Amino acid sequence: MPSGQRLQPGRTGHEHTGESPIYRRPTRTQLGAIYRALLGVHGHQQWWPTALEDGPGARLEICLGAILTQNTSWRGAAAALQNLNDAGALDAHAILELPTDVLAELVRPSGHFNVKARKLQSFCSEVVETYGDIDELLDAETDELRARLLAIWGIGPETADAITLYAAREPTFVIDAYAYRLFERLDLAPGPRKYDVYREFFLEKIGPDVNALNEWHALIVRHGQQVCRRSNPHCEECPLLRRCPFGQNEIGIRTG
Ligand code: SF4
Repeated sequence: MPSGQRLQPGRTGHEHTGESPIYRRPTRTQLGAIYRALLGVHGHQQWWPTALEDGPGARLEICLGAILTQNTSWRGAAAALQNLNDAGALDAHAILELPTDVLAELVRPSGHFNVKARKLQSFCSEVVETYGDIDELLDAETDELRARLLAIWGIGPETADAITLYAAREPTFVIDAYAYRLFERLDLAPGPRKYDVYREFFLEKIGPDVNALNEWHALIVRHGQQVCRRSNPHCEECPLLRRCPFGQNEIGIRTG
């Protein structure tokens, strides 16, 4: 799950100027146009289309991946998950039984591996000792589930929302640096760069359709990784250029 939580937004044209910015919150029509443009260029992403029949193993893997991708790229998190799988440790009990330093070596590719190992064991301890298994932990509506997750050491809002949306398939919106970057550059930030401000705005506008929420986040990440990059964004090939003041300015600077 290539979630964010790891990169700074970079320049957006909304760096602090000492003045209060005016926020032009996107309308549903504007959001619909942005969504269609991103879908048109990137196609359906279909991240983790888990279903009940996928079983608890798949859901636990999503949760572990959400922790491992904190502050790093998905590539590193995926390599760490592969190491866990190869060691027969993609299991909450197995993770708890491993010495923390051995677990840290397995998740080394995800970076911050000592703290990540402790976070994995903190999460698995909650799964095993408080809930019994992953499905019991995930068996709650959005607000209750987020509260359960946020109470676990090592789980912040972005990780909690990634688990809520992708493992439990409960409606929530995952905010990351890519979202801040894109909407600030489009001059359509819903408000100050605060997690709950963005999350509540997009959740209210998009509604509780889990597939749409899944796709929205995946498209924002894909666009941020491939086109609206932190440095040298590929504005010339961006379908949002005509509605993007930052991109038009970038091109103006480049062409002199
Ligand atoms: S035009 Fe450039 S800055 Fe604007 S959204 Fe596209 S890539 Fe990002």
